Amino acid sequence: LQLSDEALLARLVAFDTTSQRSNRELSAFLADYLDRPGVRIEARPSPDGRKENLLVELGPPTGPAREGLTLSAHMDVVPAGEGWSCDPFTLTDRGDRWLGRGSADMKGFLALAANTLRSLAGPHLARHPLAAPLALVLTYDEELGCLGAGDLADHWPADRFLPRQTWIGEPTSLAVLRLHKGHLKLRLTCHGVSAHSGYPHLGRSAIEPAARATLALGELAAELASERPPGGEHFGETPYVALNVGLFRGGTAINMIPDRAEVDLGLRLLPGMAPEPWIERVRQRIAATLGPDGWELTLLSNTPPLETPAEAPLHQHLLRERRQTETLAASYATDGGQLARLGLESVICGPGSIEVAHKPDEFLPKTELFAARALLDRVVASFTA
Ligand SMILES: [Zn+2]
Repeated sequence: LQLSDEALLARLVAFDTTSQRSNRELSAFLADYLDRPGVRIEARPSPDGRKENLLVELGPPTGPAREGLTLSAHMDVVPAGEGWSCDPFTLTDRGDRWLGRGSADMKGFLALAANTLRSLAGPHLARHPLAAPLALVLTYDEELGCLGAGDLADHWPADRFLPRQTWIGEPTSLAVLRLHKGHLKLRLTCHGVSAHSGYPHLGRSAIEPAARATLALGELAAELASERPPGGEHFGETPYVALNVGLFRGGTAINMIPDRAEVDLGLRLLPGMAPEPWIERVRQRIAATLGPDGWELTLLSNTPPLETPAEAPLHQHLLRERRQTETLAASYATDGGQLARLGLESVICGPGSIEVAHKPDEFLPKTELFAARALLDRVVASFTA
């Protein structure tokens, strides 16, 4: 039985897919819901088998020209946290809006995308076959750094294709975005020599150089904030590479000289920036402060920026539909950067607002879901006809 968009959203919200938990129950539910004649479904497990990406395809197989349309959403949500006025995992009607964790980010669009594909399958398909393929790419652990999309890109067979034009329904209040920054995550590890704090001459602190390096990274952050790299003008109040030291960890006890300290930092790279020169710049700044020994800098992960060409057909189509003329960009990352490694050109546009997405009482305005439904129907018809 086909559920309404609202009823399906309620089912999706009821699965607690907080990123640290498994998403396999939700994925299995969707695979079952979408299992209709003509639909090809493939679950692709994560390397540890605890989670999975879900690929769903309808219509003719996608050739090297990558025709058709891909709809993409992540299945995980951020932790519910405290301060809700209702149960975060029960979709709650509040007049003009629905409340629930993931209602905006991004199970609303996920419900729309799933229902769209399902309604085109089955007996309907025999009467109205698709001229071009429609694919769903549903990922895990986007909120932890686009890990599911990265895994998909890492293990993708070279002779297999997905439709190039890709719609990622992250909450933008239906604004259309083709650019966002990436997130390059690095760890500085400082090494010392452990000793009893009563005999400091026998040890060497690791926290002290980590602290000096942190101050130097703060100076580097200020320097970066004063720079105006090309493309920065699309990013409003942050037209530069933002550097943040987000974690500082060191020591074991107050009576011990700490032998290890870690400083985790992230850089928000702009479209077109490769990570290597930035890693080198950070490395040189640390070396200038600490000298060559007693520390190392390692890459934790890299979420690439998104740089879909302005002339991409889906971008042009959505701009026309939304009567938007300006180029908009986001300072957060999405799966689009990783999906570009599969040759996909992603456009970000979805119901709900990023402003409420990671907070208590996250909500989805009903009018935005209805508007997104109408938009999706028109765009899918245009790209698969
Ligand atoms: Zn999201």
